[in-house]
Amino acid sequence: VIVKDGVGPGGKRVMFQDVAGLDEAKLEVMEFVDFLKDAKKYERLGAKIPKGALLVGPPGTGKTLLAKAAAGEASVPFFPMSGSDFIEMFVGVGPSRVRDLFRQAREAAPCIVFIDEIDAVGRARGRGGFSGGNDERENTLNALLVEMDGFNSTTGIVVLAGTNRADILDKALLRPGRFDRQISIDKPDLRGRKQIFDVHLKPLKMNVDKSEIAKKMSTLTPGFSGADIANICNEAALIAARSRKEFVELVDFEAATDRVIGGLEKKNKVIT
Ligand code: ATP
Repeated sequence: VIVKDGVGPGGKRVMFQDVAGLDEAKLEVMEFVDFLKDAKKYERLGAKIPKGALLVGPPGTGKTLLAKAAAGEASVPFFPMSGSDFIEMFVGVGPSRVRDLFRQAREAAPCIVFIDEIDAVGRARGRGGFSGGNDERENTLNALLVEMDGFNSTTGIVVLAGTNRADILDKALLRPGRFDRQISIDKPDLRGRKQIFDVHLKPLKMNVDKSEIAKKMSTLTPGFSGADIANICNEAALIAARSRKEFVELVDFEAATDRVIGGLEKKNKVIT
């Protein structure tokens, strides 16, 4: 299991202020931060602390970023894993990776475990037809359920998981005491896009009002995710640097937007 600790580039921990918009989702995730920071407050009154939550939303909307920021805010280690990493060709590897992950998490608790693309392991089991080759996935899912049932409020582990398809998940995962909360993470609206541009324009060298550029660019990018916006900002800087400019300018952002749209179109093209 590869363990990262939520430290971003430059060695700084990711915090809520690095996550633009997503105000409601932040509030909900904040609760988990509080559980980790002050479990006693809840236990004293006999409350059982929820074990985890699903972050549900389209790709690139900041699910991983938000989970990492929760770890940053709570000052606890962050254990990220992708659902697809559990699925291996070799029998038994998936379940043992799950056990390994939770063993490390128990040792490091309080901590946050984040499973991205949980649908890769968590798809509903035994949906008719040919099930050959799926046993490994089912075993992995079972191992995950066993691990989640195996700790309690006092263990100090919060499990967050990301998916863009909550509807295809096995109901067993959504039962009370497992991922019984869903937090929805939507694509940003105009205001959200402006805020995401504000965050990603910060490191760029510019000689115009960044806030104005953010405002303008947010109107040109409906339907874009946070990841697309981060991409545009970096592309714009690359384009400006290539033409040996001193500063990144509006035209560079426009060219970058074209390029990112081109990339998106290619990605969506059906290969025949
Ligand atoms: P996936 O479902 O593909 O794993 P995700 O929802 O987990 O995607 P992230 O990996 O968190 O998305 O986002 C990718 C990058 O996009 C982030 O590292 C960040 O640079 C940028 N980003 C996305 N959403 C936001 C946001 N709300 N605020 C600031 N940056 C964002």
